[in-house]
Amino acid sequence: MAAFADDDDAAAIDAILNQAPSSKIPELLDEASKRGLDVRSEELAAALDEADPLREYRQQFCFPPPNHGRDAIYLCGHSLGLQPKKTKQAVLDDLQRWATYGVEGHFDQDEAPSTRWWTIEDCAEEEASRLVGAQRSEVVLMNSLTVNLHLLLSAFYRPEGTRRKILIEAHAFPSDEYAVQSCVSSRGGSEEDIIRVEGGTDELVEAINATDGLCVVLIGAVQYYSGEWFDARKLAEATHAQGALLGLDCAHAAGNVPLQLHDDGVDFACWCSYKYLNSGPGAIAGAFVHAKHDTRSLPGVLRGWWGHERSTRFEMNQEPVYRAGAAGLQLSNPPTLPMVALREAYRLHDAASIDALRAKSLKLTAYLELLIALEHPSLEIVTPRDPSRRGAQLSIKFNDGTVEGVFGRLQKAHIFADLRRPDVLRVAPAPLYNCFGDVRAFVEALTQAVHEEELGGELEFGGEAAAAQAEGLEEAFI
Ligand SMILES: *Cc1c(COP(=O)(O)O)cnc(C)c1O
Repeated sequence: MAAFADDDDAAAIDAILNQAPSSKIPELLDEASKRGLDVRSEELAAALDEADPLREYRQQFCFPPPNHGRDAIYLCGHSLGLQPKKTKQAVLDDLQRWATYGVEGHFDQDEAPSTRWWTIEDCAEEEASRLVGAQRSEVVLMNSLTVNLHLLLSAFYRPEGTRRKILIEAHAFPSDEYAVQSCVSSRGGSEEDIIRVEGGTDELVEAINATDGLCVVLIGAVQYYSGEWFDARKLAEATHAQGALLGLDCAHAAGNVPLQLHDDGVDFACWCSYKYLNSGPGAIAGAFVHAKHDTRSLPGVLRGWWGHERSTRFEMNQEPVYRAGAAGLQLSNPPTLPMVALREAYRLHDAASIDALRAKSLKLTAYLELLIALEHPSLEIVTPRDPSRRGAQLSIKFNDGTVEGVFGRLQKAHIFADLRRPDVLRVAPAPLYNCFGDVRAFVEALTQAVHEEELGGELEFGGEAAAAQAEGLEEAFI
């Protein structure tokens, strides 16, 4: 049997390959024809899963239980990653530590040192630094994402004279936009100091080159809505040529794409750990400060006792000596229960390795792209076609006003994706726990949902779900 059925299929595939010569689609087609299977077949998905070197990791996660006999298809790792099975016990063990030792839990007891509380942030920082391409001392795990963004902007957004502008991507994640607005206004700046730029890396670089008085450039490393992965090195070069500093929000990049924050010359960065990093809702976030910046002498760093040198911290004196590197930015002693959840999740990612995850992700997302192109040629994918400019996520745009109805029907079919108004469905197969079978099942459900929507049948609880979401409730997580 041919890998695909007819001339229309061949044309749809050609259209993708013309735009993305480095796509994994030819490899998938080869595998299908070597096995004599149709690319749409369940057998191909099963064969690809069988050959997946990371397939065992799926067993280590909790999937939402079946609903009305339907298995959950979870493609929402860009929003909230699934729970590793080990997390529960780790949290219970930490509660037990508190119950057993009280305040003595801060210090070494019988367990491994990584469980003692007074140095507990060490428990995942090595894994985290490998994940984002940083030196160990450049990374600290603390707080939540927007808090870290403020702490970093406080340290690095230092407007002086006519150098006061901050450049961000247009339509940034709202929290980043709000952080920038409030940061500028709290320094006596105005709306004119914020430059918002539409487009990809080239447009951003052009705008950076054209902006006088640039102080900081702050970009989402992978754009949350479109899924575009910007070229950090090019952004850093252009930013530095203007005498400014580059910050990256890696919320959608950490655990998704291989970052090289140190080598790319990024000045500072932050990320959350609950999307691709599976550390739980509101999990402890990360922050990166490039080694070229001595945090001990940066005047804008906000201070707390946890940034103090460890060896003398408990002398409680009034003349502080701060830790070097990103660790100096810590304010408070960290909450230990979310920290042990972070440790379990980061260990899993580290064991799988970001390079192996990326290799699988390229294939998994190409498979999703291929099946959508074959089944839904009229749907627009607003994520870049070039795999080197995106991570796991595809943002599927519905130009016919049906996205709400389709989304409701997908929810009914126990599919977890998400709707971003006005018209985009975001879908991300996470390579650590998703499989080719999930992707195929999703596209099959999508075909069914689109078909039902065309027929205009009753939308049962899909309608309610869409209404609940409009009020700000994410039905997908209930
Ligand atoms: C998810 C996300 C956030 C969320 O911020 P929290 O402080 O974790 O609530 C902020 N910015 C970006 C770019 C995100 O993707």
